[in-house]
Amino acid sequence: MEGLAFLQPGQEAPAGQVTARLEDDKVFCAACGGLVTYGRWRIVINGGHEHTVFNPAGVVFTVACYREAVGAADFGDASEVFTWFKGYAWRVSVCAGCGVHLGWRYEAEALPPVFFGLIKDRLRFGPPPAEKG
Ligand SMILES: [Zn+2]
Repeated sequence: MEGLAFLQPGQEAPAGQVTARLEDDKVFCAACGGLVTYGRWRIVINGGHEHTVFNPAGVVFTVACYREAVGAADFGDASEVFTWFKGYAWRVSVCAGCGVHLGWRYEAEALPPVFFGLIKDRLRFGPPPAEKG
């Protein structure tokens, strides 16, 4: 039994082998197409990967939690005001490519010490794994 193999772009899967393409789990900025994070960095916080939350202005967001977001840049100071995740201070995260608001970076003296809550509809998810055959 072969282990899971990762293919490079354009590489064909050997027959019968279980494969996943590295690019399949990329998550992009919906505004500019820049790489933001990877599906493999999904993380469960407070019992869920996704959370539907609202801010003090009543705007509802669906945020997805990731342990890292390489394409996100910090904006402004950390705040604990109206945090959605108890004990965590938040900081606005913007796209490093185009500056659009992608979500928030959370930090605490807890585990995990840092994670990102990214607004789902500001993200574009990579192509699904190729169909068999
Ligand atoms: Zn962008």
